[in-house]
Amino acid sequence: MRDNTNVTEVSTVTAPAARFDSLALDAKLLRAVADSGYESMTPIQAKAIPIVLAGRDVMGAAQTGTGKTAAFSLPLLQKMLRHENASMSPARHPVRALVLAPTRELADQVAANVKNYAQHTQLRSAVVFGGVDMKPQTAQLKAGVEVLIATPGRLLDHIEAKNAVLNQVEYVVLDEADRMLDIGFLPDLQRILSYLPRQRQTLLFSATFSPEIKRLAESYLQDPVTVEVARPNATASTVEQRFYRVADDDKRAAVRQILRERELAQAIVFLNSKLGAARMARAFERDGLKTAALHGDKSQDERLKSLDAFKRGEVDLLVATDVAARGLDIADLPAVFNFDVPFNAEDYVHRIGRTGRAGASGLAVTLVTRDDSRQIGEIERLIKKQIEIEPFELEDTRPRRRQRDDDRGDERRARREGRAAAPPRRSASAPVNDPFFDRPYEEPAGDASPAWERGKSELPAKTPNIRPKRKVAALLGG
Ligand code: AMP
Repeated sequence: MRDNTNVTEVSTVTAPAARFDSLALDAKLLRAVADSGYESMTPIQAKAIPIVLAGRDVMGAAQTGTGKTAAFSLPLLQKMLRHENASMSPARHPVRALVLAPTRELADQVAANVKNYAQHTQLRSAVVFGGVDMKPQTAQLKAGVEVLIATPGRLLDHIEAKNAVLNQVEYVVLDEADRMLDIGFLPDLQRILSYLPRQRQTLLFSATFSPEIKRLAESYLQDPVTVEVARPNATASTVEQRFYRVADDDKRAAVRQILRERELAQAIVFLNSKLGAARMARAFERDGLKTAALHGDKSQDERLKSLDAFKRGEVDLLVATDVAARGLDIADLPAVFNFDVPFNAEDYVHRIGRTGRAGASGLAVTLVTRDDSRQIGEIERLIKKQIEIEPFELEDTRPRRRQRDDDRGDERRARREGRAAAPPRRSASAPVNDPFFDRPYEEPAGDASPAWERGKSELPAKTPNIRPKRKVAALLGG
């Protein structure tokens, strides 16, 4: 690890050139792809779509962010088009494809994608997950759907209530299978799979191929073709990763400054604790940023609402913890901030994988304090790159609670050395009541735009590869 040196820039990888219209896909599906603005296939799509079209079982090593949802939905929709009909009779719309996902958020995202890809067809889709009333889901199931996306627990409830009949299922997708096993869904999966016709095509997607996943595949897949693509984030080639040395109390100002300087319209800010995330979300809100918090203390409903507001561009900052943000489908996000260096190096890779997706460029900023050396060392080992920590020049000249940060440092040092910390020093230059923290908003009354947006015309973007001003909403195809 070196200090005070230059940035870590990762070189760009060649984009896949394969076009969707080179595939045997119906014009209705190609139109939906074009509507989504996809120009070429991602590697998993180029590899998996022809295999799925050929009717083979697939074991795909791909994470969210690689375009895997389209990789399985497009060919399955293509195959189901032979059953397409406009009949009102539920019997003419039996469940033919079942997609199982670990979480409500992922199920919801997959469902939104499937709906989008099927928009010009007569094929119907529905999503069912727990934590909400079963009745509207039941009504949808009874009306008939060809594609059912579900979390395992709720699907079993519907099977038991005889709302879901699965004897005509031809295609099964186990999405994020490793997470389903982590959550403990194996018994539920086994039960669900036992209800399905044996003659079917099964696709399993997982970020890792652990021995458990391999066992699952051996039990439920037939002669699968393995399709692997690089983890989107391990090769996160289009992500500019920066590490800045900042004191704890300067972190928030640093985030605001970077947003302003880089003209970033939206970002996710990651913290390690839900308390920290809740507190920081409120602080950013006081700074005039439209902020939503995404952490374990929020109900699933609240989390989905925050995420939707973020996708619609109504929220500038999503302040999140790792657990709450896992699996979120937020495409083409311009920036991710590691407000706290994550405890686990893998989480660093997950976090920065939220930006620079599907060939888009992105910025990942990590704010590093003196206490983070161990974690930074672990990230270095994981990403196999030397991390260079830059000093951060804060433009903000207003008084900050530097004194307190020093005190906290003293406390930590004292704890490490097993002695009591010296009482906090007070000096004339470190007021207890900091006017900066006491003032709720930066902008003058009447100006509704966030503080960092107002300043952006005077401050040119420093790197040309960050596409400014576009809210993520516009890029989500909905
Ligand atoms: P997924 O890995 O399926 O969650 O996809 C990640 C994001 O990439 C989604 O928001 C998709 O809309 C987007 N995406 C999928 N395929 C492509 C493509 N071929 N080109 C551009 N974006 C894509």
